[in-house]
Amino acid sequence: MGAAAISAANFHPAFGILNPGKFKPDLFIGTPVLPEYILHRGIAQTLDEMRDMADIKTVLVFSHDHVFRQYQPGFRPKMHDGQPLTNVWVKTHPEYYQDPALQGRHDDLLFGGRDVLDEIWEEAQPRGMEVYARILEPFVITGAIPGFENFAEVDANGEKRNHVCFNHPEYIAYWASVIEDLVRTHPYMHGFKFGQERGGPMLSTMGSQRPAGCFCQHCIPLARNRGIDIEKARKGLLAIQDYGNRIKAGEKPVDGNFVTFFRILTQYPDLLSWEQFWMDSREEQRKRIYTQIKGIKPKVQVGWHICHGMTWDLITRATWDYSKMGTYSDWLSVAVYFDSIGRRSMGHYNRNYKDILFGDATEDYSYPMYLSMLGYDPKTEPPLEAHREQDTAFTPDYVYRECKRVVTAVNGAAHVHARPGFDMPSYDCNVQPETVYKVVSRALDAGVDGLWCGREWDELKPENAMAFGRAVRDYQRKN
Ligand SMILES: [Zn+2]
Repeated sequence: MGAAAISAANFHPAFGILNPGKFKPDLFIGTPVLPEYILHRGIAQTLDEMRDMADIKTVLVFSHDHVFRQYQPGFRPKMHDGQPLTNVWVKTHPEYYQDPALQGRHDDLLFGGRDVLDEIWEEAQPRGMEVYARILEPFVITGAIPGFENFAEVDANGEKRNHVCFNHPEYIAYWASVIEDLVRTHPYMHGFKFGQERGGPMLSTMGSQRPAGCFCQHCIPLARNRGIDIEKARKGLLAIQDYGNRIKAGEKPVDGNFVTFFRILTQYPDLLSWEQFWMDSREEQRKRIYTQIKGIKPKVQVGWHICHGMTWDLITRATWDYSKMGTYSDWLSVAVYFDSIGRRSMGHYNRNYKDILFGDATEDYSYPMYLSMLGYDPKTEPPLEAHREQDTAFTPDYVYRECKRVVTAVNGAAHVHARPGFDMPSYDCNVQPETVYKVVSRALDAGVDGLWCGREWDELKPENAMAFGRAVRDYQRKN
């Protein structure tokens, strides 16, 4: 990429002269809901509650959620009464798949063999509401979908990883089958969201036991075609691993942490091109899905799950560029989980920056610098000690700044939907309705085209869901 490409896309003269956009001006208001929750509680009742409390017009529900089984082998999500749950929430059709086992169905489990999209649509249609499907990529190979073992990434030591490779042709074919089946057999489906929660190889290798991938037979020719020297990229990745591990073991680089890190990059510049290649391979997956869905039914609004890591990970931000996503995105769902970011960003800072990348400075300097580099105000956000003592939420200013960054970078080429998460289980931030109201108002001030209410509907305290609705209605009255 040349300097001109960067300057055109990544600098904005006034931080606010926006393209009027290619979509309707109506505010988009939706909420994600877990299929087991809405089926158990009752669809009609849940839709009424969503509408009355938070002005919800669009419901987003998993069609497939094998992702929940990727965190430990043999794990199976269960209902609160202990009944094991299905991972396929729609009726699938074997003719779309090369191997029928790839449907991943378990019709014998709770809610198996039903179609949550069809069932929600039946109740949503008379209420004037829309139904979107969603899938998160189950990229860790834990046996949830038979055959995924064959799609494994190959790490920098030539060993198979437990992550799937974006460029494996059969893995590409797998998603083509799922999408074809889903979109063709749900003609009323208004939208679809896809995404994953995995970042690039460099940070996941730095100071880890195993280097990341992928150096498989499918990736290598593609990377070579870009002019990448594979061997230099591979050695560079191993050097980054060693660099992190030495610092973690208490060694101090003679010329300092930052200089030594930068020295590795200058010695192995192909590592950077290769890091971008990994991210581009991930984005190619989105491009394929976008093109496929638009080819079947152009009206389906295709959007992407932007994982929460984008709001705290500087290296991922460098390779995942919002300004380039417009050509294959109708909308972006941007996680701004202001309650959980305190603990989550502290974990990321502790792992990568505190002692390693920013280890030349003490944390009194490096933590405020870290927040500043992310675009947040270290004087406004809570200090590191607060997060260490207990879960502490970031402020509505965090939500405003991150939404503004995205809206500015996307520049009208796609809709931006903020996804403020609150009341997330296991985060004890005790979020109050006034804060939710401010967060929603600030996201709208930043120019987002819509919002998703919460991370998951079932997590939300009613008073906070109602505060969300109040903020939306007040904003619409004023504008
Ligand atoms: Zn590969």
